[in-house]
Amino acid sequence: MEIRTRFAPSPTGYMHLGGLRSALYNYLFAKKNGGKFLLRIEDTDQSRFVEGATEVIYSTLRNVGIVWDEGPDIGGDFGPYVQSERKDSYLPHALQLVESGKAYPCFCKKEELDARRAECEARGEIFKYDKHCLHLSKEEAKRKMESGEPYVIRLNVPEKGEASFDDVIYGHIAVDCADLDDMVLIKADGMPTYNFANVVDDHAMRITHVMRGNEFLSSTPKFNLLYDAFGWDKPVYVHLTNIMRDERHKLSKRDGDAYFEDYIKKGYLKEAILNYVALLGWNPGDEREFFTLEELVQAFSIEGLSKSQAIFDVNKLTWMNAEYIRMLSQEDFTAHALPYYKDAGIDHMDKSILQKILQPRIETFVQIPELVDFLTAIPEYELELFTNKKSKTDAEVSKAVLDMVLPLLESLPAWEETALHDALINLAAEKGMKNGTILWPVRIALAGKAVTPGGAIEIALLLGREEALRRLYIGRERLAAQ
Ligand code: GLU
Repeated sequence: MEIRTRFAPSPTGYMHLGGLRSALYNYLFAKKNGGKFLLRIEDTDQSRFVEGATEVIYSTLRNVGIVWDEGPDIGGDFGPYVQSERKDSYLPHALQLVESGKAYPCFCKKEELDARRAECEARGEIFKYDKHCLHLSKEEAKRKMESGEPYVIRLNVPEKGEASFDDVIYGHIAVDCADLDDMVLIKADGMPTYNFANVVDDHAMRITHVMRGNEFLSSTPKFNLLYDAFGWDKPVYVHLTNIMRDERHKLSKRDGDAYFEDYIKKGYLKEAILNYVALLGWNPGDEREFFTLEELVQAFSIEGLSKSQAIFDVNKLTWMNAEYIRMLSQEDFTAHALPYYKDAGIDHMDKSILQKILQPRIETFVQIPELVDFLTAIPEYELELFTNKKSKTDAEVSKAVLDMVLPLLESLPAWEETALHDALINLAAEKGMKNGTILWPVRIALAGKAVTPGGAIEIALLLGREEALRRLYIGRERLAAQ
C-alpha cells in the first residue's frame, strides 16, 4: 500500500513551529517510505479568512525545501486540495449517512439551542443536544427539508458504548459515547463543519497516516465515529507532543517566539531552524544532531518520535545556528549578511574583510549592526582604554606610538593589507617593541572600543585611508592634551 500523508493547515497567516514540525514529519515519513506527501488547505471557516495566509504556507514550506506531491497549485488525482473548492462534496456524504440512519437533519433553531446551552452552562452542566429531531418521522423530516426550512445535519452518536482509537504515541484513547454530543456535520449554510470536512477529505485523498498536533487527540475518537458510520478504514494516527517554552507553558504566539517568521526576522538560518525543529520530539537514536533535509529523510522513523513533551531551548537553537553560520561559504555568508550591513550602514565596506571578521563571531545575523557600530561612528571613549598590561601600553606609550605611526601610514602609497601590515610590524621590530605595543593603540584610536571584531589592520582597511587617519589624529590629539 502506498503511504500517503498530508499537511492540512488552516490558513492563519503565520507558520507556527508546531505546524512546521507536523509538515516536516509528514513529509519525511512519506519520502522515507517512497510515498506521497500532500498539501491541503483547510479553509472551511471563511469567517477566519486571512488575506495572503495561504501564500505564507506555500512560501514557508518552499523556503525550507518541503515539497508536496499533490496540492492546490499543482493538483493531483484527488483534488481540488482547498476545502472551500470542495464544498459541494460534503453534503452528499452527509446525506448518505442520513439515508443509512447514521445521521439526521435537525431543525431546532440556533437561538433556542444557544439559550438552552447558556442555561445548562449556568448550572455548571455540559450541554448535550437531546436528539429531539432524531425522532421526527422520515416523511416529516423530508417535508421540512423540501419546504426550505433551515437545518443542520447531525451525527447520530450511539447512546451507549465507547468511541476509541489507538494512537501511535498516546496509546488507546477512549471516550464514553454518553458524553458526546450529536455533532453537527453540515451547518445551516450548507458548509461542512471543520471536523467533518477533515475526515471526508482524509478518506477521499486516501491518507494512510495522520501526524498532527495533540490538540486533536481528544476529539479524534469522535471523528472516528464517522469512519465507523461510513464503514471506512481509519488512518494511522500519530499525535505529536507539545512544543513547550518551559515545563509548564506552551510555545505561544504571545511571546513572539512561536512562528517560523519570528526566527527568520531574528537572523536565524532556515536550515538551522528546520534542523532544530526536526529534533523537537524526534531523535535519530544516536548522537547525531546536524541533518540536512535529505539526511532527515534517511534517518526518520515514527519509532524515533518522543512520548514526552519537547522543550524549545532557544539557546540550543542559537548554538546550532552559529554552527550553520560557520559552515556557510564566503559568498553565502555575505549574501545573508548584506541586509544587516545595509542596516548598519557598512555595505560600502570591504565584504571579504567583513566576512572574515564576522563569520567566526556571530550566532545570528541580527548581531551584526551592534558588533560593527564603531565602524560608522567612533564612540566616545575613555583614554584609559589605551592602557593595556599585556601589550605594555599606557597613555604615554600610546601617544609615542601614534606619533610614529601617523607619518608612516600617511606616506603609504597604497592603503592595502600587506602595506599596512609591513609598516606596523617593521616599526615594532625596528624599535624593539612587541607587535601588540604598536597594534593596541592603533586599534583603540581606530575603534574607540577595547573589544572589536577584527584587529587594527582590518579595521583600518574597512574605514579607508581618510577616516582611519582622521581617527588616529583624534586619538593622538586627545592623548597629547591630557
Ligand atoms: N487544519 C488543522 C490545523 O491547522 C489541522 C488538522 C489536521 O491535521 O488534521 O490545525
